[in-house]
Amino acid sequence: MIKKLEARYSYLSDYLFINLLNTINGRNNIFTDFLEEEGLMDEWLSLMKERSLLNSEQVAKINESPIDIKKIQLFREQCRAFFLEPETKSIFLENLASNTEKAPLFFDKAFRPTPSKGGTDGLISLIAYDMLTAHHNGLFPKIKKCKSDTCYALFVDTSGRRKWCSMEVCGNRTKVRKYYAKKSEEHT
Ligand SMILES: [Zn+2]
Repeated sequence: MIKKLEARYSYLSDYLFINLLNTINGRNNIFTDFLEEEGLMDEWLSLMKERSLLNSEQVAKINESPIDIKKIQLFREQCRAFFLEPETKSIFLENLASNTEKAPLFFDKAFRPTPSKGGTDGLISLIAYDMLTAHHNGLFPKIKKCKSDTCYALFVDTSGRRKWCSMEVCGNRTKVRKYYAKKSEEHT
């Protein structure tokens, strides 16, 4: 089942919060929201655990209470807007910090955070903390949206030259399209 969810991603990020923000996509011109399907939130948590982006304690804690998908979707949209529409910047960062207050985090000896509450608040608290850490590490200016019009994926551009979330999925497709567009121009 996790493999099914994994296949929907054009690529998987090394960052937990980016994988949450990328739970929508427009591949093959069809908009899909991975979280809307029954059971996919659970699969997402399992996939993140498999990728070592969440540990067993964190997942167990989150699963203690139900997750309100609508609230996660709303949070995801606010986060995406922050990266895509820069004018919302300062308010967003304040809100982000307050999101961790709804389910304060406890840190183990290895400084891994576990939320004090499960469910929606716990998950949002963990994601918000992950984003704040990325912000403090100077990652935000490197976050870009994939250049493909039909792809909603965000990625971290460490080289300053990356255009696609995935060269295999989005890069090649655009190259192929341009090639054929040029070819048909030559023939007219
Ligand atoms: Zn893409």
